[in-house]
Amino acid sequence: VGDIIAEPLRTHYPDIKGAELREKVDAIMDRVGLHPHQKNRYPHEFSGGQCQRVGIARALILEPKLIICDEPVSALDVSVQAQVINLLKSLQRDMGLSLIFIAHDLSVVKHISDRVMVLYLGNVAENASRAELFANPRHPYTQALMAAVPIPDPERARAKPPAELEGDLPSPMNPPSGCVFRTRCPLATEYCGREIPVLEDKTGAGHWVACHYVERDEELN
Ligand code: SF4
Repeated sequence: VGDIIAEPLRTHYPDIKGAELREKVDAIMDRVGLHPHQKNRYPHEFSGGQCQRVGIARALILEPKLIICDEPVSALDVSVQAQVINLLKSLQRDMGLSLIFIAHDLSVVKHISDRVMVLYLGNVAENASRAELFANPRHPYTQALMAAVPIPDPERARAKPPAELEGDLPSPMNPPSGCVFRTRCPLATEYCGREIPVLEDKTGAGHWVACHYVERDEELN
């Protein structure tokens, strides 16, 4: 594991070697909550959460400004997810990092994000601050995602109307004409099949939505 963490440094800074390289590996392992003496172990000797920490250490050792985290916690159980997310948040704060965090779990997205971009079939459906998006989702797809979040109270869950989206996700190789969401959108019209909706700031304050039928705030007043 020490070799795995050191590899980016050896590749990009070949002059760093020996004691200096070991010191940097020890420091970054310590920072992500691993014991430096674990560097002599093999990956199969680590738990899932520890393996994610190894991955984070390997990404951080070059001191990047930006890390793209693609589903970093989806394979972990909930308690370990929380540990890894809290670690990423503390690194973000302490190291001035920006994270692009790709996830399907809305509770994880809500916990870690400052801004949220909702994608459907590779197209931006909505983009807003976390608070604005979760308080006031405007795109029909985002609304369907929010409505599908499980409620841990059986009585409230039974009272909630069913929220599944109908139909299957179309192939990205052969996307629908016009709005890519139209084959599953409850509000779709014939116009949606002809015109691609433009991503527009509907509030003038950074709440972007790509839908013909979401009005701008000034149009509502
Ligand atoms: S443009 Fe039409 S199909 Fe697309 S999200 Fe809006 S209403 Fe639905």
